[in-house]
Amino acid sequence: MAADRPVKRKRKGSGSTGQGGEVLLRQRTDARSERRFEPKASLELALTLLGMSVAALLAGAGVYGQWFRGEEAGAHPAAPYLLVGALLLGAAAGLFGQWSMKPVRVGDAGVALENGPGEIERIGWSEVTGLLLSESALTVQGGGTVIAVPLRAHLAAASRVLSEARKRIPGRVADIKEGALPAPDDAAGEVRALEPPQVAGLHCKATDKLIAFEADARLCGRCGELYHKDGVPPRCVTCEAPLR
Ligand SMILES: [Zn+2]
Repeated sequence: MAADRPVKRKRKGSGSTGQGGEVLLRQRTDARSERRFEPKASLELALTLLGMSVAALLAGAGVYGQWFRGEEAGAHPAAPYLLVGALLLGAAAGLFGQWSMKPVRVGDAGVALENGPGEIERIGWSEVTGLLLSESALTVQGGGTVIAVPLRAHLAAASRVLSEARKRIPGRVADIKEGALPAPDDAAGEVRALEPPQVAGLHCKATDKLIAFEADARLCGRCGELYHKDGVPPRCVTCEAPLR
């Protein structure tokens, strides 16, 4: 490493981000937080569920009319239409309906989707390769994973994702126009503390040195990139935040 390494860092409590010539290097155990957003129950969801229910009713009536009316009555002439109607309506509700109604989390650890109880899919800011904004969703790509944040159900979360991404990894958001989404609302989302990250066994981004002890880990306070305490570069190699 560079010969002019500065004096050894003293352990800091919380003051790892100062004003002005801000140094963003953090210890693993420094406090981190994120916001959790519940999806907004929407007309689309209600219509999707209604469409599915009607399709099921039509299918039931159609099946009965076609095959279960007994020998002497025979198939009801309307039964095939009911069956086709049920098929079309069910297909439409499935194709165009709104199903991605999972809670979204945004914060120091990146963007996460709650797929189920205790099952969280997460993309750290340092893993993000790009953001894509369409009419219906803000999509976060990275680390072999894609998280789509639907705008109708999750506008507040999408705004938060975009504004944090602009601050943390500006180089990967350059394609999205300023003001494409409304500014984030500080009242939206429930703020939660994050557990310290699991880092033992991972490697320093700058030197590839194994991080054998969690106490040796240092994190970029902006994008969360991971470094060994002996390999911290002057600037984060991922987001270029000043680290010392
Ligand atoms: Zn960084």
